[in-house]
Amino acid sequence: CGIFAYLNYLTPKSRQEVLDLLVTGLKRLEYRGYDSTGVAIDSPDNKNIVMVKRTGKVKVLEDAIQELFSGSEYSDPVMTHVGIAHTRWATHGVPCERNSHPHRSDDTNAFVVVHNGIITNYNDVKTFLAKRGYEFESDTDTEVFAKLVHHLWKKHPNYSFRELVEQAILQVEGAFAIAVKSKYFPGECVASRRSSPLLVGIKTKTRLATDHIPILYGKDVDSGKPQELRPHGQTRELPVLPRSDSTSEFMPLEEKEVE
Ligand code: GLU
Repeated sequence: CGIFAYLNYLTPKSRQEVLDLLVTGLKRLEYRGYDSTGVAIDSPDNKNIVMVKRTGKVKVLEDAIQELFSGSEYSDPVMTHVGIAHTRWATHGVPCERNSHPHRSDDTNAFVVVHNGIITNYNDVKTFLAKRGYEFESDTDTEVFAKLVHHLWKKHPNYSFRELVEQAILQVEGAFAIAVKSKYFPGECVASRRSSPLLVGIKTKTRLATDHIPILYGKDVDSGKPQELRPHGQTRELPVLPRSDSTSEFMPLEEKEVE
């Protein structure tokens, strides 16, 4: 499948323009998967995340977006905006709207996720989360990731968005590329990958704009160590966090220590 995320931060854009960019991105990726599609953007009052999902090709989603978002409230310019999008090639769960991405953490759409690949230990993660009250609405492996980030956010209210996603990634197995958006972290998008390809493009206006440029996180290709990536080739190494051992019962690290 293909995941596409867009973070606007240099010049104001309307939600409609952001949606156009997301659809254009999906069209480029459509050859990678075309059984269903979906996007997530902020609602006009910036308080919620709005999602649109459709079974079928990107064109079906494009038409739905045109119909749903043509109102003037979606043409107001916003300075910083994050949109995420997905074109699916199902591995877990039949192609249908319910299984289409983005998947969400809860019915308030606190964290929404698009995912390429397979989370191989999703059953263990699902059992763990179900025991803690999470109800699943799809048959995908992906949904566990959104709910795991939410679970970690409840446990660690002071974690940054990056730390939350990083902790969740340490608990999942398999090969994937992932992009996460949250209503609690407006203007931020965390993307990561393991084995699957993920391309990041940064457009800068001038060198002086660096202070306003979002920080991205990645791994150094040679050493495999996590790094903070900044424009113009600047990098900073980050501490390597321990990975959970794959025991039969899934248990995020901190809980293993206290329980
Ligand atoms: N495993 C996920 C699913 O079945 C993602 C598949 C894909 O890469 O499109 O929804």
